[in-house]
Amino acid sequence: MAYDYDPQNIFARILRGEIPNDTVLETEHTLAFRDIRPQTPHHVLVIPKGAYVCFDHFAAEASAEEIVDFHRTAAKVCADLGIGPGEGGNGYRTVSNAGLDAVQEVPHYHMHILAGRPLGPMLS
Ligand code: 5GP
Repeated sequence: MAYDYDPQNIFARILRGEIPNDTVLETEHTLAFRDIRPQTPHHVLVIPKGAYVCFDHFAAEASAEEIVDFHRTAAKVCADLGIGPGEGGNGYRTVSNAGLDAVQEVPHYHMHILAGRPLGPMLS
């Protein structure tokens, strides 16, 4: 399966330090930073540092170390924000858009973490 990764996409430029970002957590393989147009009081984007277009690309081709690091970093963001139900928080939503029908704006895999207000039913 072929994925056409554009190295000029905005998140690639953030990873190269060409564009500033509001980092909340960084590891060897993963960067978490605040969305520039937050839809909720907490709106964090989690991205792998590797060149992956979308979720299925990442899940199919990233190493196990990258995949574990990505999810542990996202979980640490939730823990640091205190939003996880298991920690007494009010909860959160994770979303990942892929391709045309989902209106993926930035073609570098990212997970949105949305929290800080009631989110309503999904797809509303
Ligand atoms: P998508 O629609 O691809 O799932 O979401 C892309 C997200 O990236 C949007 O929520 C948008 O606000 C965010 N975004 C786009 N450009 C930038 C940027 O330069 N910096 C940051 N922090 N977020 C961005």
